[in-house]
This record gives sequence, structure tokens and C-alpha cells, in this order.
Amino acid sequence: MTRKLFVTTALPYANAPFHLGHIMEYIQADIWVRHQRMSGNEVHFVGADDAHGAPIMIAAEKAGLTPQAFVAGIAAGRKQYLDGFHIQFDNWHSTDGEENHALSQDIYRKLKAAGFITSKTIEQFYDPVKNMFLPDRYIKGECPKCGAKDQYGDSCEVCSAVYAPTEVVNPYSVLTGATPVMKSSEHFFFKLSDQQCVEFLRNWALQDNRLQSEVANKCREWLEGEDGLGDWDISRDAPYFGIEIPDQPGKYFYVWLDAPVGYLASLKNYFGKTGRDFDAFMADPSTEQIHFIGKDITYFHTLFWPAMLKFSGYKTPDNVYAHGFVTVSGEKMSKSRGTGISPLRYLDIGMNPEWLRYYFAAKLNAKVEDLDLNPDDFVARVNSDLIGKYINIASRAAGFITKRFNGVISTDWATPDDAFLGNLRQAAPEIQALFEAREYGKALRLAMEQADLVNAYVDANKPWELAKKPENDAKLQEVCSRLLEAFRILTIFLKPVLPQLASQVEAQLNIAALQWSDVATPLPHLHTIHPYAHLMQRVDPKIFDQLFDAPTAATTPAAAESGEGASTAASEIEPVAVEINIADFAKIDLRIAKIVNCEHVEGSDKLLRLTLDVGEGRTRNVFSGIKSAYQPEQLIGKLTVMVANLAPRKMKFGMSEGMVLAASAADEKNNPGLYILEPWPGAQPGMRVG
Ligand SMILES: [Zn+2]
Repeated sequence: MTRKLFVTTALPYANAPFHLGHIMEYIQADIWVRHQRMSGNEVHFVGADDAHGAPIMIAAEKAGLTPQAFVAGIAAGRKQYLDGFHIQFDNWHSTDGEENHALSQDIYRKLKAAGFITSKTIEQFYDPVKNMFLPDRYIKGECPKCGAKDQYGDSCEVCSAVYAPTEVVNPYSVLTGATPVMKSSEHFFFKLSDQQCVEFLRNWALQDNRLQSEVANKCREWLEGEDGLGDWDISRDAPYFGIEIPDQPGKYFYVWLDAPVGYLASLKNYFGKTGRDFDAFMADPSTEQIHFIGKDITYFHTLFWPAMLKFSGYKTPDNVYAHGFVTVSGEKMSKSRGTGISPLRYLDIGMNPEWLRYYFAAKLNAKVEDLDLNPDDFVARVNSDLIGKYINIASRAAGFITKRFNGVISTDWATPDDAFLGNLRQAAPEIQALFEAREYGKALRLAMEQADLVNAYVDANKPWELAKKPENDAKLQEVCSRLLEAFRILTIFLKPVLPQLASQVEAQLNIAALQWSDVATPLPHLHTIHPYAHLMQRVDPKIFDQLFDAPTAATTPAAAESGEGASTAASEIEPVAVEINIADFAKIDLRIAKIVNCEHVEGSDKLLRLTLDVGEGRTRNVFSGIKSAYQPEQLIGKLTVMVANLAPRKMKFGMSEGMVLAASAADEKNNPGLYILEPWPGAQPGMRVG
């Protein structure tokens, strides 16, 4: 029976580009979705940006943009990552979309009508200059336990103490530096403590293998703990970037209320575009709703979200699958330690996205475990397994078929007594079941065991030996045809993980898109294939040197490696320009600029587009020829120096309103480095340099 599946990944917060953890989650879900499609199931796979909340409102204000424009800028950058790693969402939407406003308000109204909304007055820190209530992380002060200065309003990074913002000594607002005052406000709460919620959640979370056992155990602790479940504060006061609470002017939904509703909103938006009936699909009892999430947000997805849906009369999720975090060589990714990895740089330096998909898949299982990216392991799995065991089968067989037999496959192998191919076909149901259970590592291990058997067949029959004597032609054609059939079956096993490669194989074998059911249907007798073209390169281990961010606190490589080259010989520098007086210099207005945004310029291989803040209450657009030296995400948030009074210049890609300063060598050919200037800590945007 065809299943109807609605699949989501967690919604990324729209204040930054994707990091490797996002890409891992999307790849995990994308593999599962592709497996379902290959099984003939109906799947709708959607994502969206999580657009609301105080951090985005404040970041947008700093960037001199409306929150909508700020979020739109982030959203515009998503496609290059998703396409780059072959992550095939059907739709990508935003929680600020109209569908989400309507659905969130509808859910709230129904919860209220059913008696699940209550209100009470709470006291909270308020910034009297900015006129807004302050979230805990926007309050700093001295730690009440150890006295350390500049600690956040909820915990101390020096002594790890946890406390209430009201306990902080000499508190101040991070936004204005003002001393916050206590102010009361009416807040709205979802009554999660209601006995009906507790009973529903006990059934929902602990039955039907809905959750992984680790997650279900955690839920049991939350549900059966001494404190029980508390009511959930779902409102925030204006100013707030979010969705207004019906009939409560100046009150907004806390971002965590409307974020998961964004799953439904994205599906509804997609159905709207494709002319499908959203309400009928969600009302269909056979529809399965499945969420892939990170382990850090299980509380929201296994308590608040299902309870909210249940008591507003919506469909509740069928499964929530949590995964762990990505570590690099056993450590948390860290820019300062040089273990940060930018997914865009991975693509830009020419690493194959399917290497990463294969590596992640080989490490993924159904448990909530962290996944380690280790360069040696990565190289071994790609070069030894993927290329050595699988790709090489095609390169050994297809050449002979093309050169010696005009691309024609000829054999009557497809008899039930063909043990070699029969065994290979028999492995399919188990591999399929492992993909279904999200045990990708085990699925790939089984596929590689089958590849080992195919390679043993190659070694036993030695096509290169058969090719030496014309009288062996029939045998050579049969052996190579069997190998291509085996390669076709292995390609089906790997297709959820390697969609691009599978489509190249389909083109070369001259066959339709492979499905699971095609395992049983061999290449037809006298079928003609296309000439073999190389399918995949090996990984050069040296490429990892380019992948990792340089440690931010490191000395320059030249100085660290040898005495020579630490200083540039006098003769090599560019001659100093003609002498000027101080009045000449004063004409150039150099300012400290904050790079609030940076992005690639479509159609330019030299330029990056910088959005600069020099404290003027607006931002400037500057194009800079530094693309060869920097990734946009390395620059966002950094300070630099710009020429602020250079006449604006109209360029092919738009107006450039100034110039940032960067150093380069006279001999650019042999010494191509480009180094943007960065002031010492303490400099502020708008300060004049001179
Ligand atoms: Zn402390």
C-alpha cells in the first residue's frame, strides 16, 4: 500500500547561514525521503526559516534593515547549500508567511476555546531606554556566586553557577547599558500542567515506538518527575518581531509557539502552489507526519508541540526522530581551534557533496548519538569503500562492453539458478528495511559486503585476462554483462545516499530512474549502454588543509614554519608612492566599518558584496574584489577599515558606496594573498582612522 508521508526537518533560525549540523540533519532526512520515493510512496518534504523573535529583531535593527528584509537576505542564501548537497525539499517557506500567521492564530483560538490558555501577571526586567522587556541573555552583570564581571543573566561562564536574572549584581542591559528596572506585564500561558495534557502525552510519547527509546525515557522523566509539567509562557510584549495574539494588542506569540506551526504552514503553502487540498490531506487518517530534529529541541517537539496540536483539534505527529551533534575529530566544532567547517567552502574548494553524504550515511544510525567527522576516516570510506569497492566495478566492466561489443549486453543470466546475481538481489529487502529504520550505516555496510562479493567474482573471472584471447569473447561479454547488472543493483542500494551518482549511472546504462522494485528486473538482453565516463574522483587527503578554518589566534604560517620568509625582503615590495602632506591625507576619510552582511555576487568570480555599518544610521553597499581570499561567513560581524568619502561608483552589479582596505603583495602572481584590515578590539563602527 502506498504511504502518504509529510516529512520535515527542524526550522533553522534565520539569523545566520547554515552550519554543518544543519547539513547533516537535512542529509539524514533527504536520504530517508529518497528511500520512500524509491519505494513508490507519496512524500511531501518541506522546510522553512524560523523568522521571529527578539534576536532577529535586534540583529535586523543593527544591520539597519527591517526584520522582514533581514530574514529575506538570509533566506536568499539557503538555496546554494540545499542544491549544493542535493537536498531536495519540495518547498522552503518562512514562519513569517501568511499561512503561519493564520494557522498559529487558529491554533491559539481553539486552545483558548477549549480552556487551555490562562494568563497571569509576571515581573520581568525592562530596559527603560529601549522600552522593552529583556530576555535573560540580554541582561549582564556580576555573578552572584563568584563576582565575575559581564556574566549573562541566567548563568556564569566562570564558575558555571545558574541563577535568576534578579540575582545578578549591578545588572545592565546588553542593548543600551542602562540599569534594567522591574516591570510587570500580563503573560499568556498554555496549560501544559492540565491533567488532560499529561494523560495525552503519556500515551502519545510512550507508545507505538513513536519516539526513540532514549527520547521516550527522557519524556517519562519529564512527565513523572516530582515537579510535573509546568504551564508554558507563550507570550511576549511589543516590541517583538512575531505574530500578534488575537484580541490582545501589543502581545505576540513567543517564537517557540509559532516555529513548529511553520511545518504546517510550509506544507500548506506548497499545497497552495500545487493545487492540492491541505485540509483533506491532514484530515486523512493514513497521513503520516514525521519530524527530524536535533537532540537539543526534543522538549519542544515531544511535549509542547503534540499537546498544542491535540487540544486544538489538529493531527498529532506520528514520529519525532532526534539525532546528535556533529563533532570534528572528536571535538565540538570550534573556529578558534581550527576545527570549524563551512559547508560552502566544502563546495567551493571542489569537494564532492556525495562524499559527505556517503560519509554521514556511513556514520548514521537510529540512535541519538553524536557523529564525528574525522578526515582519515572520511578518506578511507570514500577511497576504499565507495571508489575502491563500488565505482571500480563499473570501470572494469563497462570499457570492454563499449570497446569490444559496441555497448551491447548479451547474456541469458537471468535464470533463477544464477546464484551470483540471485544472492545480490536477495540482499535488497534487508537493505531497504535498514534505510526505513534510519540505520544507514548498517545499510551501507551490507551494500559494501555485497560489493566485496562482486569484486571476488571479478577476481575469479579476470576479464582483463579473457580479453587477451579472441576465442574468449563470448565469455568476456557474459562476465562484463553480469558485472554491469551487479553494478546496477548496487546502484539501487546506494541511490538514496548518492542521487547524483545514481543518475549518472542511469544515463550511462541507458535506463530509466531506478526504484527499489527494479532490483528484480535485470538489464534486458541485447540492451545497449552508453560509453563509460569516469563517475567519481578519489579524495586527495591534502584537501582537508583547505577545508578547515585557520585557527583564529594562530601566528602566520610563514613565521611559524621558518625564520626565512617571516619578513619580506626589501626589494620585493611595491615602491612607495609619491610624497603627500598632511592636508592631502586629511582628504581621505577612513572609518571603522562593521561588516553586517557579506554575500557572493552572482556572475562575478572576483567580487563579494559587503553591507557595511559606519554608524550613520544606515548601511552602505560596497563591492570588494576579495572573493579569492574570503568566504562571506568569515567576514560577517567583523570590523574593518573603509574609505568613507570615495565618490559612489556604479558597477555592473550595482552601486558601490566606498572601499574597504586590504593588503596585497606587489608580486601578486607568486604571492597572491589578500588581507583585509581589522582594527584592535575596542574600535567602534564610525570611528575615524587617522
Ligand atoms: Zn560565577
